[in-house]
Amino acid sequence: MAEPLRHGHEPVRTCIGCRKQGSRSQLIRLVARNGGSTVVVDERRRMAGRGAWLHPSDTCLALAIKRRAFGRALAGATEIAAVERYIAAGMPPADAPVDAGKPSKPESGSEN
Ligand SMILES: [Zn+2]
Repeated sequence: MAEPLRHGHEPVRTCIGCRKQGSRSQLIRLVARNGGSTVVVDERRRMAGRGAWLHPSDTCLALAIKRRAFGRALAGATEIAAVERYIAAGMPPADAPVDAGKPSKPESGSEN
């Protein structure tokens, strides 16, 4: 529980996507809710429970999904729609309009 804080600096956290470290202010905190199955963004970084940290970027989100890091860091949590929404909303829209109806997901294969 008590993390050893040897450095006098800002606490450092590890992104579950790219596995690089960053200060707390660079990462978003994720916690599992709904009995542990749903991952939500803890914007204030103060929700109870086990947390995971992620850079708010598409790249790190994709990496975390790919390596199933959510389930590993948050004890089996798999529903990450809230996180995807959060990051999508926080990112400047690339060129696709956001509310253009139902997006068809181009991903394939890995249903489980
Ligand atoms: Zn990252």
